[in-house]
Amino acid sequence: MTEQSLYKSVLLDHFHNPRNRGELGNMRVVKRGSNPRCGDEIEVGINYDNDSLAAVRFRGRGCSICLASASMMTESTQGITTTAARELIGKMQAWIDDNGDLAAPAEAVAALAAVKQHPARRKCVMLAWQALDESLDEIESAQAADNG
Ligand code: ZN
Repeated sequence: MTEQSLYKSVLLDHFHNPRNRGELGNMRVVKRGSNPRCGDEIEVGINYDNDSLAAVRFRGRGCSICLASASMMTESTQGITTTAARELIGKMQAWIDDNGDLAAPAEAVAALAAVKQHPARRKCVMLAWQALDESLDEIESAQAADNG
């Protein structure tokens, strides 16, 4: 199996068996993202405990790349701190925008390398990560209010 076809099968596995996908009724923070050009519409929900992301989930519909990336995002951010999540989002953006051979920021997202040759689909990849980024904004301002 070539690296490309391995990546494709990992993407399809996340698309058909998304991790942490479901209702967000119990989540403390929910942020929405949409990519009208592709028809992607997702919501990311987070429960947090101090500065750690206790649960990260998503729901919605979209293309295989968007949903696979959302699934990978939940897997790679569950249990990490808000600071680590911010760092990972920054690295994801840099990696997906890179036209060279920058290494993937995490093993869990390496299969998205297959998308890098299709710049028009970068938005599909980043949609869930941007919703996560907005969620972190809300968590941080809630914490600032608590501490102030
Ligand atoms: Zn898409």
